[in-house]
Amino acid sequence: MGEEETNMAQLGSVALNGSSPKKVAYFYDSDIGNYAYVTGHPMKPHRIRLAHSLIMQYNLYQKMEIYRAKPATRGEMTQFHTDDYIDFLQKVTPDNMDSYMREQGKYNVGDDCPVFDGLFEFCGISAGGSMEGAARLNRQKCDIAVNWAGGLHHAKKCEASGFCYVNDIVLGILELLRFMKRVLYIDIDVHHGDGVEEAFYTTDRVMTVSFHKYGEYFPGTGELRDIGIGQGKHYSVNYPLRDGITDESYKSIFEPVIENVMKYYQPEAVVLQCGGDSLSGDRLGCFNLSMDGHANCVSYVKSFGLPTLVLGGGGYTMRNVARTWAYETGVLVGQDMSRTLPYNEYYEYYAPDFELNVRSSNMENSNSREYLEKITAAVIDNLRNTGPVPSVQMQDVPRKPFGGMTDEEEAELDDLDEDENKDVRMTEHRWDKQVENGAEFEPSDDDEIARANGATRQSSNKRTFTDFGKDTEEEDAANSVEAADGKAAEANPEDSHDVNDDTIEDIGATEQEKEPAAETSVEKADNDKTDGDGDVGMTDSAPAEEEAKIKEEELETENASAPEAAGTATAEPEKPAEEPNAKQDETNASKDTEKPAGDEESKAEKAETADKEEQPADAMDVDGDKEREGEAKVTEAAS
Ligand SMILES: [Zn+2]
Repeated sequence: MGEEETNMAQLGSVALNGSSPKKVAYFYDSDIGNYAYVTGHPMKPHRIRLAHSLIMQYNLYQKMEIYRAKPATRGEMTQFHTDDYIDFLQKVTPDNMDSYMREQGKYNVGDDCPVFDGLFEFCGISAGGSMEGAARLNRQKCDIAVNWAGGLHHAKKCEASGFCYVNDIVLGILELLRFMKRVLYIDIDVHHGDGVEEAFYTTDRVMTVSFHKYGEYFPGTGELRDIGIGQGKHYSVNYPLRDGITDESYKSIFEPVIENVMKYYQPEAVVLQCGGDSLSGDRLGCFNLSMDGHANCVSYVKSFGLPTLVLGGGGYTMRNVARTWAYETGVLVGQDMSRTLPYNEYYEYYAPDFELNVRSSNMENSNSREYLEKITAAVIDNLRNTGPVPSVQMQDVPRKPFGGMTDEEEAELDDLDEDENKDVRMTEHRWDKQVENGAEFEPSDDDEIARANGATRQSSNKRTFTDFGKDTEEEDAANSVEAADGKAAEANPEDSHDVNDDTIEDIGATEQEKEPAAETSVEKADNDKTDGDGDVGMTDSAPAEEEAKIKEEELETENASAPEAAGTATAEPEKPAEEPNAKQDETNASKDTEKPAGDEESKAEKAETADKEEQPADAMDVDGDKEREGEAKVTEAAS
């Protein structure tokens, strides 16, 4: 073939534009489902495992590469979070938490964001997937990266919030900013993406766009008038919504807004947070989107052909979250999926219909067409003030060499990596477990990056979510799977029925309101003429809500309470030892599936398998991210 053809062929797999098939990198760590928040807590990491099981049973792994990311280290987390906050997360445990009462208050750890076994590791897995996904996008090793364990948008620089502790999204975006001039963040969780907005509120390098319920609802921020400040003015977009928005209504606002965002801002990469609590029937949500309506957002964003990092987020009716994320994975890889669920280890969760679907209900849509048209017009009007060329120049991005390497050296290694470390497809069913070496954290000093990127906005009126008791629908008892394992065990016996996340009763509904933090935002001061419903002065029928009370509901991380055991499974996938980023692929992950039970078990396993994965991998992790790599190296040295 001619030279041209050859070139085309070479570009084929990584083409970043157009309609060519996208190369999809999917990040999953089978340990994730073993973590559990406290009994009765609506956030259940187990949902990630349910989604993964469906993804595998639908054979989607045949159309994507599956990796297990190296958990984010302390040093990586502190690229955004403060050292003292991360140190606290690393050392606090259910057993010693009583001696950290002061810190719990300071870092908002306790109620909505409880201390649980393996908390730090859980955060590491969530953040590691997003960071590695971003790193692969940067290196054009994939067109789309997926991390359903990520999307924890409420975590703040030095504070946990809304079931989120470490903001994997901010960390992923910071990684993308090392290569991309402009990054677009889109959030379709029912809650405002406050942590991400706050981190980038003063920069034009990141545009945050959040569609969310506003008004007497956690976290209490996200008004139409909040558009960013300083250099970031107009680069924060908020679309306040009322209860019950339908597929049709959502599509009628999402598409025009995103179309205009793309037109004016022209991002080089997109991060899409797919919180599943905007689905109809969510235990904590109040929207009425069907699976198709939710997935339309994914499909629409994908249609722009930009490098995209797709993340999870909230979502408290586990079976529906799993269905939707599995379906959305299919949308991303371009695979049609039967509406009849394939048998899988968690089949009983999907009774009685056993369908791949989440239907809308007949709830009232409080978003009138007139209201939506006004908000949409206002949002688009604001976008006209933005431009495709933020003033920041690439060299302004701090790139300090990590691990003693310069960018150039890293680049060289990267090239080497291309040649010598091709992704290794695993054929085995098992992945190894990664062992986390507690000694590997070293102090880092790179928060400049975050600072440089504007991670400085002070929080405004936030609210906490304590009220996760709102039970929406009950999930049926149909599924009473019992928790078989350890962490799960944590749950009271009575909770065993909690399998589906849905039935949670309890949880103390302590509502606490946080007082509005001091507001720093300059702009805010002047436009305070909102009617309280977030739409700033728009006349709509919706009653203004009082800011004062907001319930807090969910956030993102969940715990998988008991679940685990339910299925069980088979062995875990192993990671190829060599791949630097710990990517593992696995074609067969499919079977890998889950590990059986509790953490304890898993811990044991980890210990055993420590050898395999371990860190060695990182040392070479050239290809992923430099920063990640640098740290890894440091770590090793340390250990
Ligand atoms: Zn949410």
